[in-house]
Amino acid sequence: MTSNLVDRFLRYVRIHTTSQEDIDEIPSTKRQFDLAHLLVTELQGLGLMDASVDEHCYVIATIPSNISQELTAKVPTLCLLAHMDTSPEEPGENVNPQIIQNYDGKEITLPSNPDLTISPEQTPSLKKFIGSDIITSDGTTLLGGDDKAGVAVIMTVIDTLVNNSSLKHGTIKIVFTPDEEVGHGVDALDVEALGADIGYTIDGDEMGVLESETFNAAGGTITIKGFNFHPGYAKDKLINALHTMGDILLQFPRDQAPETTEKMEGYYHVYEASGSVNEAKIRFILRDFDSTELHQKMQRMEEIVNQMKERYPKTKIKLDLKEQYKNMKYQLDKVPHVIEYAEEAIKRAGVDVIRKPVRGGTDGARLSYMGLPTPNIFAGSINFHSKKEFVPVIAMEKSVETILNLIQIYVEKSI
Ligand SMILES: [Zn+2]
Repeated sequence: MTSNLVDRFLRYVRIHTTSQEDIDEIPSTKRQFDLAHLLVTELQGLGLMDASVDEHCYVIATIPSNISQELTAKVPTLCLLAHMDTSPEEPGENVNPQIIQNYDGKEITLPSNPDLTISPEQTPSLKKFIGSDIITSDGTTLLGGDDKAGVAVIMTVIDTLVNNSSLKHGTIKIVFTPDEEVGHGVDALDVEALGADIGYTIDGDEMGVLESETFNAAGGTITIKGFNFHPGYAKDKLINALHTMGDILLQFPRDQAPETTEKMEGYYHVYEASGSVNEAKIRFILRDFDSTELHQKMQRMEEIVNQMKERYPKTKIKLDLKEQYKNMKYQLDKVPHVIEYAEEAIKRAGVDVIRKPVRGGTDGARLSYMGLPTPNIFAGSINFHSKKEFVPVIAMEKSVETILNLIQIYVEKSI
């Protein structure tokens, strides 16, 4: 299993699938079809003849049940999901993975970027993987384990199921999505047509992670319009959007930023500011586990913009702000066995369960509100959206084992 799993992973990360913000189409980048088409071919190669990709780049396939009709009717139809795109925050083209065999516990240097190292001091969980093989990028790109580890894990689960008829299972749906990293992973997915009862995204990071709580999220853009003029003759004429932009940036609370918050704390995050005298844009996101507090943060942004309008009456300032997703906890609390079974599956794989809130969103958060309760299980990659991303091979193997266990548990509990 291991060599197939690793081969798959290495094959998928080399395919450039970076998604892109602010595109009205799904997928946001056509290149995501390159991986989608490969996966369809591989799924058909594994015998899932209905595997297909649609115009929105959703890859969908079915593993038919191998138990009696009577029992199939009782076993919930599970859906396993992973996303094919990688984050636009770091380069994802020409990913050149390196495998460190039998990791010795020391600092890892990245061959094409010697300034970057992955150290056990900075990433304490590295120490858990002494003796395991670890895959990193060469330091010039992200690795793409988020979420190609999940894709490779699911493909290996399918491979194992179709080649071991002794592993009994109900109907299982497979979905590979585009554009998760830009928040549109399930926008065009027909959840009802999928016909699944319970979903699991395989998109969590560290080995053992099981996530059932996400942020409530909003995101927005502030557009500032100035007016350019020859600087030598600009008195009382030139309106500099950049000065207003600078002032607005100062209003974001520094003690409620991603770099100053953790655990259950929410934040304001400016992730892009650019422009010229004529026009400047600030892009930001707001996050909070508590929905009331998220709304307060949204209100605070409106207050900031209104204050700035008063301070800079000649500048045009516009705020576009909308909610992106909600905390899935409220939906998953209604079906507690979905989490209980997943915990048991992880334990049966000999792994300690790590329960923690997702300081981000998942496709599952959206799906849970579209009628498909979908917590998130680890795929094993660590340091998401970073050139320091790495994946221990054992973690991907344990993810495969966990999902196979989970599928069995659903059959056992239905007998
Ligand atoms: Zn992901």
